[in-house]
Amino acid sequence: MSITPGAGHGELSTVFLSFRNVKKTYDRQTLVVRDFNLDVHQGEFVTLLGPSGSGKTTVLMMLAGFEHVSSGDIYIDGASVTRVAPYERNIGMVFQNYALFPHMTVAENLAYPLRVRKMSRTEIRERVARSLKLIELEDFGDRHPGQLSGGQRQRVALARALIFEPALVLMDEPLSALDKKLREQMQFEISRLHSKLGCTMVYVTHDQAEALTMSDRIAVFNHGVVQQYASPDQLYEQPANAFVAGFIGENNLIPGKGSVQSDGTVHVTLQDGTVLRAAHGNFDAAEGDCLLSVRPEKLSISTVDTIAPDANRLRVRFVAQHYVGDFIRYYFERPDGTRIIVKTMNDARAPTLTEGHAIDLHWSMQHSFAFHPQPSAVQGDTP
Ligand code: ADP
Ligand code: MG
Repeated sequence: MSITPGAGHGELSTVFLSFRNVKKTYDRQTLVVRDFNLDVHQGEFVTLLGPSGSGKTTVLMMLAGFEHVSSGDIYIDGASVTRVAPYERNIGMVFQNYALFPHMTVAENLAYPLRVRKMSRTEIRERVARSLKLIELEDFGDRHPGQLSGGQRQRVALARALIFEPALVLMDEPLSALDKKLREQMQFEISRLHSKLGCTMVYVTHDQAEALTMSDRIAVFNHGVVQQYASPDQLYEQPANAFVAGFIGENNLIPGKGSVQSDGTVHVTLQDGTVLRAAHGNFDAAEGDCLLSVRPEKLSISTVDTIAPDANRLRVRFVAQHYVGDFIRYYFERPDGTRIIVKTMNDARAPTLTEGHAIDLHWSMQHSFAFHPQPSAVQGDTP
């Protein structure tokens, strides 16, 4: 087991799970996982986040042992699991449609993984009682799954995955079938169980809000490649590329021609000659197509604020505004049709604008990123 600096805690933690150059093809033509590398620390909650079809489930299936890796290796607790059968990996799992056994009671469902592991009756009885208590369903042990609500069933599925105290727990979109309120409750519940039990968690979702709420670290996944692996706040504040910037949270991506300056900042020249400056990003060419990225809440509409001399200014036309309660979302348009969104707290400074009104937006170049444009689809590499 290797020792590496801890994930954001400033302490030393151990790498528990490693993917090394893992590739996967189902048809020997297209790589659905192209070159997957990831380290997960002991006790960490890591989420694979990516659009549908990006290869998340495939990665979990390889980790669980239900799919072979086409090449590369997976290590759990320092040992390669490539030749270890699924049941020997001792992994707890919850899937989206993980059905409980309908003919068994809740208690029997929970006892099942323990019976398979040939535990004694006394031990099983104790663990089932503890487990029911953990999910606050003490009085539901004798019910059948059909007599439970969706949320209660999901809690039982969760408890069943955890009852044999696996060191590693995998969850593949376990909440996607639940309505919003229940989903948020269960997010809290899963986080609570994770901190209480201290297992290592690999969680899969396509829902960025869910990933941001629950995870220690998130691997943003697209086209079978990790785009960025970082904590939620790092992903939001320091996106590595245009895909991550667009996928995590709301974002404005303004197209132009980039050019790296001698001080390392990037000048982005728009079609009408406006020059915007960016202090961050991955754009590194002397000249070329570029996207300037800025979060909607970093843009200022107000003309009463003192505008810093090095601030970006952008002339836009007002299109519409939406009242969202605690904040207001404004829509603006550029002459070339680019939409700009601005989010402002709903307070006295939020202006009322009329349609067609021309106005300057301004913001700091410290909140601006210059990114290489990314192709919306990468043609599948051949293995
Ligand atoms: P995600 O979970 O991110 O939605 P998947 O891992 O399910 O992505 O799928 C990634 C790609 O692999 C998709 O193009 C999908 O069609 C393909 N795929 C997934 N499972 C199989 C399979 N058993 N056989 C063939 N192709 C598959
Ligand atoms: Mg999936």
